[in-house]
Amino acid sequence: MNAEIIAVGSELLLGQIVNTNAQFLSKQLANIGVNVYYHTVVGDNPERLKGALEIAESRADLIILTGGLGPTKDDLTKETIASHLGKKLVHDEVALSSIEQYFQTINRVMTDNNRKQALVLEGAAVLPNDHGMAPGMVVTVNERSYMLLPGPPKELEPMFSQYGEKEILKLQPINDKIVSRVLRFFGIGESMLETEIDDLIDGQQNPTIAPLAADGEVTLRLTAKAKNEELAHQLIDKTEQQILARVGEYFYGYDSTSLMNELFQELDARNLTIACAESLTGGLFQQEITSISGAGDVFKGGVVCYATEVKKHVLNVKKETTETYGAVSAACALELAENVRSLIQADIGISFTGVAGPAKQEGKPVGMVFIGISIKGREPKYEQLQLAGTREGIRLRTIKHGCHFLLN
Ligand code: ATP
Ligand code: MG
Repeated sequence: MNAEIIAVGSELLLGQIVNTNAQFLSKQLANIGVNVYYHTVVGDNPERLKGALEIAESRADLIILTGGLGPTKDDLTKETIASHLGKKLVHDEVALSSIEQYFQTINRVMTDNNRKQALVLEGAAVLPNDHGMAPGMVVTVNERSYMLLPGPPKELEPMFSQYGEKEILKLQPINDKIVSRVLRFFGIGESMLETEIDDLIDGQQNPTIAPLAADGEVTLRLTAKAKNEELAHQLIDKTEQQILARVGEYFYGYDSTSLMNELFQELDARNLTIACAESLTGGLFQQEITSISGAGDVFKGGVVCYATEVKKHVLNVKKETTETYGAVSAACALELAENVRSLIQADIGISFTGVAGPAKQEGKPVGMVFIGISIKGREPKYEQLQLAGTREGIRLRTIKHGCHFLLN
């Protein structure tokens, strides 16, 4: 099934608002394996909306319209579709009583034009609006389906997630099961990853491959359709193997896991404990690890050693080290990792020191970071990074690099 999204609203064309509804819907549709081939934006004008509908009908099985379901004169999506499809608009009792109830709750008199909001296309399945008045609807004519959703994202998003998606799944060929799996990568950029698997993405059909980059990570969502779940999983397994054969070294986990979660599982499985010394990250590592339930089996404690005096007095970093190399240095990271491990008596010590910005420090550039790792019975080691981005981004990615460094 392929879909087109038509966003209705002159304010979109005037540049007053951004079409976030199309973005949201596209993402959700990708998750359930519906291909979106076109986004269209059209003003509040019946003639031009009809024109857009005719074009969409020539190329889509599912047309999703957003906006223009409200009570005012410029809200004309329903009326235009009704006349275009030759369908009557009828009052939906459930929607009408929920609008009446809404007015009672806010203690205001309901005007006639609000009754208009309870009008739905004859024969349509009605999608309740739990966050506003105008209900959504889906109607199928000549094997083509039309879904109408309200414009405000705070109404559209929950309506689609709660009711809309189910209606679309009903429209899919019966017996087809849709399964999706997310592969998570770290240490490789989105464009590099895409280049490596270019031909697989180009040739994709079943499963589809959808890349997404966020917070220094890249994910690939594989979505397959098949008669049953097992077959869909087999299709995904095959593509996953092809992908991992090329970029497997950057792969770290599935679905909603995180690097911290993977690290936690690994340490837990090996019965190892960890302690940390945090300078530029100011406690972020500790916050993240302790947000995992059962963290106490793995995480013993840490020191936020933001100031150089704390590095020296609490964690015994040598005066020569900070004087010769500075607090942002490999030598300092190594001492911090070693000393926090022995102070807290953990199996592993990890340290973070660096320049989060916005200004240089010790003459070192923003984004320069050193991560130290000390493991009982082994030579301590460090990793030097040069990160880009905002202060917050640098701090967050420092933690991810730390987890990744330990996992490898
Ligand atoms: P209402 O009952 O609020 O009038 P409606 O269904 O008639 O809702 P519109 O009048 O078209 O929808 O738009 C209402 C508001 O919803 C807009 O002013 C805008 O803030 C938001 N909105 C509409 N379309 C979009 C869109 N495509 N993306 C993001 N926001 C939108
Ligand atoms: Mg409106």
